[in-house]
Amino acid sequence: MPQPTGSAARATVPISFELLPPRSPAVAARMPATVDRLAATGPQFLSVTYGAGGSSRAASLELVQTILERTSVPPMAHLTCVGATHTEAAALVRQFLDAGVRRFLAIRGDPPKGGGPAGELTSAAQLVQLIHRVQAEREPYGERPLPGLPAVHALSGSRPRVEVAVAAFVNGHPGSRHANQHIDALLAKQAAGATLAITQLFFHAEDYAAFVPRARAAGVTLPIVPGIMPVTSLARLRRTLELSGEDTPADLAIRLEIEPTAEGQREIGIAHATDLARGLLDAGAPALHLYTLNQPDAALEVLARLDLIRVPDLLEDSR
Ligand code: FAD
Repeated sequence: MPQPTGSAARATVPISFELLPPRSPAVAARMPATVDRLAATGPQFLSVTYGAGGSSRAASLELVQTILERTSVPPMAHLTCVGATHTEAAALVRQFLDAGVRRFLAIRGDPPKGGGPAGELTSAAQLVQLIHRVQAEREPYGERPLPGLPAVHALSGSRPRVEVAVAAFVNGHPGSRHANQHIDALLAKQAAGATLAITQLFFHAEDYAAFVPRARAAGVTLPIVPGIMPVTSLARLRRTLELSGEDTPADLAIRLEIEPTAEGQREIGIAHATDLARGLLDAGAPALHLYTLNQPDAALEVLARLDLIRVPDLLEDSR
């Protein structure tokens, strides 16, 4: 049956998107519409990044609140712990819990380039543990309504828990001292109570297909959701490699280098991300996480080409 134009579509494969706290008034002004467009595709969550050292604390919280107020999609707040004391990190977690956040992405973060205070938390695993501890202190027991007595609640056995996701690195973490250290780190995060892993971006489905069995053999049971970024220009590819520490994907780089037009480069990036996502689903990926850089069009185009969302979701006026 044809669906009315502009109604929310439900993706058949679980999808999610990453947003950045806006850094300019122009991006901030567009953010509610961006949130609405992404929410209309029925994602599992919208994740919101957090600047290392707390540089984006207020802006991250504001974006999380925008998502909570405008949509029924749960926000997933990234939190970083590098440079923080236990007390500071616990206060940060409490602030996001108080705002209504129940999903986190616990990230260690990168120390500032020029060096800075070492902090008391040195790994994401410690932050995972801290988030669960703060939540347990806030809500030490669950409650359930008593039948026929709407105002009265009884204690229930299970206390409300939060979901804590963590980062995974298909091609290793640039800071690893040996080949499997990132898998050891992932195991430590799982042992600390993580319930989901989201990968750093990468460019070839076979890298994911090789990584997952290695992680499973080491004892990782978490769902490992691949992170995909449609890289729509050569400049964007260079910046992305600089930030992620990933090796240059020669095939994609060459195609972008010889394509003279912006539209041509955009098409190459979207086609590459679409093929990557298709290969990942064939390799058994349980879901897809799209890095949007606050420009949802390319991410939505990839999902539409995979038939995971309907074309009207691409249109600005479908919100
Ligand atoms: P950890 O898992 O604690 O450690 C990172 C790696 O260090 C390990 O994988 C391991 O290889 C190595 N390592 C070093 N020492 C040890 C040790 N003693 N034991 C074990 N392993 C060790 N950054 C931000 O600032 N803000 C964000 O919002 C943000 N979001 C991200 C989202 C995703 C999905 C990903 C993949 C990355 C994100 N990052 C973000 C980047 C992140 O800050 C960096 O990757 C950082 O270098 C490591 O953080 P981590 O949580 O992976 O750290």
